[in-house]
Amino acid sequence: MEINNYNPFASAKQQLSKAAKLLELDEATIEFLSNPMREFHFSIPVRMDDGKIKVFRGYRVMHNDARGPAKGGIRFHPHETIDTIRALAMWMSWKTAVADLPLGGAKGGVICDPHNLSQKEQEGICRGWVRQNFKNIGPQIDVPAPEVMTNPQHMLWMLDEYETITGNRTPGFITGKPVEMGGSLGRKEATGYGVVVTMREALKEIGMNPENTTASVQGFGNVAQNAIALYHQMGGKVICVSSWDQEQQRGLCFCKKDGVLLDELKQISDPFGGINKEKAADLGYEITDGENWIAQQVDILIPAALENSISIENVDKIKDSVKLIAEAANGPTSLEADEVLKKKGIFIIPDFLANAGGVTCSYFEQVQSNMNYYWTKDEVLAKLDEKMTSAYINVSDFAMLNNMSMRDAAYVISVDKVAQACKDRGWV
Ligand code: NAD
Repeated sequence: MEINNYNPFASAKQQLSKAAKLLELDEATIEFLSNPMREFHFSIPVRMDDGKIKVFRGYRVMHNDARGPAKGGIRFHPHETIDTIRALAMWMSWKTAVADLPLGGAKGGVICDPHNLSQKEQEGICRGWVRQNFKNIGPQIDVPAPEVMTNPQHMLWMLDEYETITGNRTPGFITGKPVEMGGSLGRKEATGYGVVVTMREALKEIGMNPENTTASVQGFGNVAQNAIALYHQMGGKVICVSSWDQEQQRGLCFCKKDGVLLDELKQISDPFGGINKEKAADLGYEITDGENWIAQQVDILIPAALENSISIENVDKIKDSVKLIAEAANGPTSLEADEVLKKKGIFIIPDFLANAGGVTCSYFEQVQSNMNYYWTKDEVLAKLDEKMTSAYINVSDFAMLNNMSMRDAAYVISVDKVAQACKDRGWV
């Protein structure tokens, strides 16, 4: 979303150009990596429940596939923009590279608000998205997945439409499917768990015991809920979460000084991660403005909602107690805010490293679906931990060796890998 004139694609390109300078990349490679290799814009006509046709705008952006089939989610959002999708697609290329997955980067979306659509209308959008785009995607070309406001049911409708058109059974066409229909055990947990695996490693590095830490989380969707679950298992305490209030059209914070209870909050939240404020008040939560998640007296901040949530306007609200920021969301910190955080000496686990657990497990799902042979949940989560730990250590070692921030190190490692693959193929 473009919020307060913040353009995620401009920001993604700035980050790329910084890494390109450090790597001394040539002009042609920089130009090639600065833009998506391909993008598709299309109209999706859907017959609504009232009998009228409504036309939705859909997108798929493939940033780079030099390292393997492109991979990236499909997001449903009323304020979706093509530049957000371009940025997210580029970040996917870096994410698959930093996690060392043999995949490229892509992203898609539809401008729509599922809050206001029936199941049948949402099915129409999913099937329409595939009808408009099936020639450009596929298990060996570009593999979609769920993202903000899309879920396993949406993925299954998309798979069914693709298989109906192609006449094959190709479960590897899409990931994030329901487990009983070719999804991977552990996919639901993967992104949030992956965030906490990187937090565990970072806390070791900065000499803190998770059991003695507290955290504040922005968002209460899939990523936030699973991150909180594993962080609680490690003994940490979350004292504040925030979520989007659909009725008031603004964020709200839900705080409990002695620690929020995940299960009770889950019971009073909707499928989009919105928390019911009346029921939360009854349960004793202090409810305040959504911006307050950032101003809590905690050790750790976990932005797990949308882009640009830590900006130059609110970065000064961060308390001196904060030692670690784990960027669970994509692009939560603006470049200007990042500079302020560096000066404050806060340790940051950059987004495309912190949240790489989602695509890592999606890759596991692709592998299982293509083999049509499925692993146990323990096996998936053990492989996830191994991949995330090794990605973290790789970045951290590089950062220390080159006296760089974790973000710069992650960028240099991943941009170098993608650039090298393009060069090895003789593209640039
Ligand atoms: P989700 O739709 O399940 O949850 C989003 C949450 O953010 C909801 O609780 C919503 O209420 C809240 N929110 C939205 N706007 C807010 C605001 N202004 N203030 C407070 N809360 C707000 O989405 P998700 O899948 O949990 O994804 C969250 C972030 O993680 C996104 O940036 C997404 O791109 C990123 N991510 C997700 C995955 C994944 O596997 N789901 C993988 C990698 C990255």
